[in-house]
Amino acid sequence: SAGALSEPAADPSKGSLRILQLYPRDMNIYGDYGNVLVLKQRLAWRGYGAEILEHNVGDSFPSDVDLVVGGGGQDSGQVVIQDDLQSVAPTLRGLAEDGTPMLVICGMYQLFGTVFRTYDGIDIPGINVLDLETRGGSERLIGNVVATSTEFGEVHGYENHSGQTFLGDGVSPLGTVLKGAGNNTEDQYEGARYRNVVASYLHGSLLPKNPAVADFLLRTAAKRKFGSFDDDGLDDSLAELARKHAAERPR
Ligand code: GLN
Repeated sequence: SAGALSEPAADPSKGSLRILQLYPRDMNIYGDYGNVLVLKQRLAWRGYGAEILEHNVGDSFPSDVDLVVGGGGQDSGQVVIQDDLQSVAPTLRGLAEDGTPMLVICGMYQLFGTVFRTYDGIDIPGINVLDLETRGGSERLIGNVVATSTEFGEVHGYENHSGQTFLGDGVSPLGTVLKGAGNNTEDQYEGARYRNVVASYLHGSLLPKNPAVADFLLRTAAKRKFGSFDDDGLDDSLAELARKHAAERPR
């Protein structure tokens, strides 16, 4: 199997996925862009290519997007992108409804819901892909998180947010926290799932430590585009080691 340091295939023979990163200029904290690098590398190890696209404020939205990734951002970054995000909201909703796989983290997770009411009392409207809402709190929720998920097993990551998210009936939680806060300080849930959208508070970035989530996104995108996914097992021992170390640390 491919080693952790092996080079990407030079000539991907099995086709290429178009991966769109939303607002990397304003919404990319705690290394969330690393999620895109993991997707690209796991494709390369299996002989697929990846075309990395970016959508920033003012850009026209690219066509033929196979997978969408969005990162975290400070409240101020969320304010900067809010108008542009509303302008592309119908497109994103259409893609999500159609089954396009998406991974949205923290600040972008919050904006995929109905509204983020900040601690300062400003309402930043969401784009209604996910039935959930977020309220800014006085407390910051910081530290290592371990959640259990029926779909992905244990999910590991790092949270740092003051917004607290509450799920409506239209979504399921991604998991239940064993350590850390997750969505809020009340209900033990972490993240949200809807169609092929995975939403989570967890940075780290998330995908290096959670290959099962990465492969769900890739398998879904590849099956939609190519009809199949050559799902070669990879050597995930480094990811396993990182999970073990993080799990052993106090929160
Ligand atoms: N600004 C949001 C909050 O603090 C999101 C932070 C983040 O993306 N880490 O709740």
